[in-house]
Amino acid sequence: MFRLFGYFFEIIRGSVITARHFIVNLFFHTLNLFGIKTKRKGAFTIQYPEQKSEIAERHRSLHRLMKRENGKPRCVACMLCQTVCPSECIYIEAAEDPDPEIQKYPSTFLIDISRCCFCGFCVEACPEDAIRMDTGEVELAQYNKDDLMLDLDFLLS
Ligand code: SF4
Ligand code: SF4
Repeated sequence: MFRLFGYFFEIIRGSVITARHFIVNLFFHTLNLFGIKTKRKGAFTIQYPEQKSEIAERHRSLHRLMKRENGKPRCVACMLCQTVCPSECIYIEAAEDPDPEIQKYPSTFLIDISRCCFCGFCVEACPEDAIRMDTGEVELAQYNKDDLMLDLDFLLS
């Protein structure tokens, strides 16, 4: 008998909690509907993918490689990003650049984004500001794992 009472008590208690959240959220939704801003967060539903939330400027998103004024990659194939990457997902092959000021450029630059943990170490380590993670691109899902291997042309574009 006591167990049965406890069972129904917990069902009623759970229902009260659910109803409380529903009413409180409905209240804040209604305020939001009329343009009244409140400090409370989390009462809004973003209708993804039709609606998208704003991404902070400092958010680390998909990588890109920077170009020089003449269109060539700013990267000098120093391998620092490849060395510092904890996921070992960067692969670079260096080639000799005819410009003695530059000396080397990446003939191959691959990032296996399926292994990347978006730590940003590669960006921090780069002495040339040649790699950035500021594209704002966060929708990276692919059906094919090979499509998650980003090459030099893609990164420069
Ligand atoms: S963000 Fe981190 S894990 Fe991803 S490529 Fe750069 S260093 Fe490697
Ligand atoms: S650290 Fe910068 S310059 Fe060096 S290989 Fe990486 S992207 Fe290129």
